[in-house]
Amino acid sequence: MERILVSACLLGRRVRFDGGAKTSGDALLAEWRAQGRLVPVCPEVDGGLPVPRPPAEIEDGAGGPAVLSGTARVLTPQGADVTAAYLAGAERALATAERYGVRIAILKEGSPSCGALAVHDGTFRGRKIPGQGVTTALLTGHGIRVFTEAQIPEAATYLTSLEPPSAPTSP
Ligand code: SF4
Repeated sequence: MERILVSACLLGRRVRFDGGAKTSGDALLAEWRAQGRLVPVCPEVDGGLPVPRPPAEIEDGAGGPAVLSGTARVLTPQGADVTAAYLAGAERALATAERYGVRIAILKEGSPSCGALAVHDGTFRGRKIPGQGVTTALLTGHGIRVFTEAQIPEAATYLTSLEPPSAPTSP
């Protein structure tokens, strides 16, 4: 059975920077959870950050790949450099994915760790720009397809391509 890496906050875990969750009510996610497919991760907590914690954004509108290459940092509004924790959390998520043979992930959009299509622009003004979070960039670089919580139907299609229905057995 294909396992699916999922942002823990989408499963109701109160691990976000503000101490809350972003619980998804998606029926497919609930079905996959009941099947035991889901592998929850929270890269920021796994990287050593507390709950709650200051918000953070990738500087200069750069994305996760720039953080991975060392050309951009992850900063809090006060200018504290939390890059190391974000990198550690991404590595932990990748290690977890590899342990379970994960090829597909559904991660929380807009996060500096988990964003797949958009991240904040580094100004802390609530503005999002196209880009990936640090964990998403690392997972993607290792061949794992990352979908947002709004792309679960697309994720289901991809899951089917990885795990086609088994052929009927001969009598
Ligand atoms: Fe959710 Fe990812 Fe942020 Fe953790 S790091 S709270 S899993 S979006």
